[in-house]
Amino acid sequence: MLAVVPPPVTVRVPSKVNLHLSVGDVRDDGFHELTTIFQALSLTDEVTVAASEEPVVEVYGEGAKSVPTDGDNLAMRAVRALAAHVGREDEADKVRVVLRKGIPVAGGMAGGSADAAATLVGLSALWKLEIGREELSHVAATLGSDVPFALYGGTALGTGRGEELVPVLSRHQFHWVLAFDQRGLSTPKVYGELDRLRADGDPPRVGSHAPVVEALSSGDPRQLALLLGNDLQAAAVSLRPGLRRTLRAGVNAGALAGTVSGSGPTCAFVCESAESALEVAAELAGAGVCRTTRVAHGPVPGARVVGGEDAP
Ligand code: ATP
Repeated sequence: MLAVVPPPVTVRVPSKVNLHLSVGDVRDDGFHELTTIFQALSLTDEVTVAASEEPVVEVYGEGAKSVPTDGDNLAMRAVRALAAHVGREDEADKVRVVLRKGIPVAGGMAGGSADAAATLVGLSALWKLEIGREELSHVAATLGSDVPFALYGGTALGTGRGEELVPVLSRHQFHWVLAFDQRGLSTPKVYGELDRLRADGDPPRVGSHAPVVEALSSGDPRQLALLLGNDLQAAAVSLRPGLRRTLRAGVNAGALAGTVSGSGPTCAFVCESAESALEVAAELAGAGVCRTTRVAHGPVPGARVVGGEDAP
């Protein structure tokens, strides 16, 4: 008798921008204590998970050449972690993952984490696991601090390493322009640079996250624009001084405000409206301060099946 091969499952997963990122002290485990507000954006990756004779990772799209296609790929790590969690380790080698990347690689928008989250959702659909998002988020947290947020999406307050999440009410859609840099930045290097800057002096720190929560509930992009803040920005700009020019150019082009996204180097600009975002993106793209630009809106939902048998 022939075994029935389940049809492939495709999952769409959002990127994130940190509206507020406060970096505290280094903990005993080497991680920094974080307080952050994430927003999930409509700039997405698509991940297809399928049954296969052998483990395969294929990567297409934005920055594909710099993404590993072996067991180091975060999507493959997610396959192994979920297989171990449900006691199916022997089947972890029988999965093919295809990544279609829209999220810049090493761009501070958690693209690898997004792929890991999408793979968890895709594999649980492929294997028809009865496993809720909360249980998946425990597996997600073992893969990286930003992976649980990519599962839930929306807008959320993250504490700990960023993996302990509480949803934040965000009224209305916010409109964003993203400026991609020529090359990525390594997240550990950016944290290292922040430690160096703090050892040498006292770079400014963001204040409380409470006003950001209020601005989100008011839904006023002008109020939010005044409050965007990221403790990693000084470190990212120190490693990539050209980002200062990019941030200035976005505001000169009509954005309400700009911030380095996470550990950078992508710069994220909040705009008054969808129309304004299109204008800012076009002007920035022509200003010679970045590789390319994209428009996006947020908040959007977390990793969701969009194709295959389990599509809505
Ligand atoms: P974060 O914002 O979470 O710090 P990032 O967006 O800056 O992350 P990623 O795109 O997640 O960075 O990639 C960081 C590194 O991880 C890349 O340089 C790449 O070598 C490796 N990597 C492993 N798996 C993936 C994946 N599926 N997609 C992208 N990069 C991956």
